[in-house]
Amino acid sequence: MIILCRTDLTPAQRERILAEIEGLGFEAFVRTVGERTVIEGPPASSAARCEVERLAGVERVFVNEPGAHLVTHDHRSEPTLVRVGDAVFGGPGTLVIAGPCAVESLEVMLDVARAVRDAGACVLRGGAFKPRTSPYNFAGLGREGLEILAEARAETGLPVVTEVMDTRDVELVSEYADMLQIGSRSMHNFPLLTEVGRTRKPVLLKRGMNATIDELLTSAEYVLAGGNEQVVLCERGIRTFERSTRNTLDLSAVPILAERTHLPVVVDPSHASGRRQIVPSLARAAAAVGAAGVIVEVHTDPSRARSDGPQAILPDELTQLVRDIRAIDAALAPSSLAPSSLASSSPVVPAPAEHPDPEPVP
Ligand code: PEP
Ligand code: MN
Repeated sequence: MIILCRTDLTPAQRERILAEIEGLGFEAFVRTVGERTVIEGPPASSAARCEVERLAGVERVFVNEPGAHLVTHDHRSEPTLVRVGDAVFGGPGTLVIAGPCAVESLEVMLDVARAVRDAGACVLRGGAFKPRTSPYNFAGLGREGLEILAEARAETGLPVVTEVMDTRDVELVSEYADMLQIGSRSMHNFPLLTEVGRTRKPVLLKRGMNATIDELLTSAEYVLAGGNEQVVLCERGIRTFERSTRNTLDLSAVPILAERTHLPVVVDPSHASGRRQIVPSLARAAAAVGAAGVIVEVHTDPSRARSDGPQAILPDELTQLVRDIRAIDAALAPSSLAPSSLASSSPVVPAPAEHPDPEPVP
């Protein structure tokens, strides 16, 4: 039994909880996680759980279940709005984040940044610290890349999101970035999640390519437990047996996450597919399924891109994509629904069993 206490836990409430656990014949272990006291109790019967759950100062008790609470609707019933410059994720409309995979040079970055601004996207992306499969691949310009991003922001007025890979760089990247990106490969880097949870910068947390939705939520819980509630989740494709695309875009993650969390969810069709030809259609699908935003890679000359050129769309394609997404948003806006369709909107369907058989045997 793990007992997550309220932030305003008093010493008397804490003593009462400890006495309850000792009364069950077990030792209680007390830890501090971010802003909260966590008490580890015995493996619990449901009766014991109920007893502990109703004690003052207890926010949530976990028994054999993913330890995610702060990310859930139980903790916060309103959608979380995440502000990055003038962009607000989780409000109406599908926001577009765009930019090159990596910051390559000042010249290319400024060209792409102007194109991103002119297309009507609202956040600029670009990696200064790149996670690469091989140590011999271009791994980003580091601090110089951050300085280039700052120049692109000054030139365009767009806020910037960029990846931080190492706990030792969180302070440095925070000096330049408007939003800290935790990449797919770092979703399980718990010290890094803890470190960005200590900052008050918005965080873009990408789903691990091998991670379940529950694991994405418990990773987000690390950031929220540190007191940083400004988190946007990102579905970026998961590994499956399918080889036609780089990963398999799990669009069902968007409505499923809407059932489970108050955090906004964006979709990355670029890393999901690896193919520029299908990036716009996947991005439109993400808008239609209710994503708070999309993040796409753009390059003025993808054939010369130092990373991920095959999945970078061209500036003109981005312009068209932003138009298409606005049209989808307008078509799906609540005010555009007829009263009858509003009345018949379906209630939230309960989550299915944890591991339903995907292909029932007849
Ligand atoms: C990126 O967005 O720059 C990136 C490397 O993506 P991912 O972490 O999803 O692979
Ligand atoms: Mn990339």
